[in-house]
Amino acid sequence: LPLTPDGQTPVRVLTIAGTDSGGGAGIQADSRTMALCGVHACVAVAAVTVQNSVGVSGFHEIPPETVAAQVRCVVDDIGVGAAKTGMLASTAIIEAVAAVCTEVGIGRDQPVPLVVDPVCASMHGDPLLHAEALDAVRNTLIPIATVVTPNLDEIRLITGIEVVDDATARRAAEALHALGAQWSIVKGGHLRTSASSTDLLFDGDTFLEFSSPRIDTGNDHGGGDTLAAAIASALAHGWSVPDAVAFGKEWVTKCLEASYDLGAGHGPVSPLW
Ligand code: PLP
Repeated sequence: LPLTPDGQTPVRVLTIAGTDSGGGAGIQADSRTMALCGVHACVAVAAVTVQNSVGVSGFHEIPPETVAAQVRCVVDDIGVGAAKTGMLASTAIIEAVAAVCTEVGIGRDQPVPLVVDPVCASMHGDPLLHAEALDAVRNTLIPIATVVTPNLDEIRLITGIEVVDDATARRAAEALHALGAQWSIVKGGHLRTSASSTDLLFDGDTFLEFSSPRIDTGNDHGGGDTLAAAIASALAHGWSVPDAVAFGKEWVTKCLEASYDLGAGHGPVSPLW
């Protein structure tokens, strides 16, 4: 993506998400990705996780009105070209975020596109969303998404569909679109049935496929955040959704190749370059 010449105001993106004290996923992955993609990252913290490379041992939710106030004050002063949601933890936070996004013009059919990564749990299975908040993800969050980017576990929780092949991936993309997302992505990275990893993008009419070689690494912490943050960065630069998704897919593949060991568990997808 184009970098901004010195001294000029760069393109801005807002991430509304949770922190990762281990620096691998969440807001840390988002800000790092956005900076490397040539955009200034604004952050609205929704939750603070207690986390390292081995897992998440707890989290603390930020009061919903404080989450909304962060979004409002950034948009009022700095302005953003795109936004992204990650870990939102609870129904109350999801409702506050959806309301403030609608108020300030973020979301589908609004001036500022919104990438919704419907984070439910870590790769270790540690919960990052209260189970009762799944209804709010379905009925309040996904309906304002310009693009929704669930992984296969999240698709099962949200739609009840077990994605095992191309036909079930298409059904899942249709189900996510039916919930109200303008574009839905079904990420095939966790489907270990082929040598490549294929993501499916659907706008209610046409299916587009994006394939990359499968990178075999245990250092895949924060991969979903990195993909969604790269897509949001490209959208902020004014790219179309299909071009932004193609860019995000290439980006996360390069980041998987550059991932590194950290602690006793899984290292981060985010690279150091
Ligand atoms: N922690 C936070 C704050 C996150 O937002 C996410 C993912 O979205 C994770 C942890 C989990 O990352 P992973 O599934 O790669 O473990």
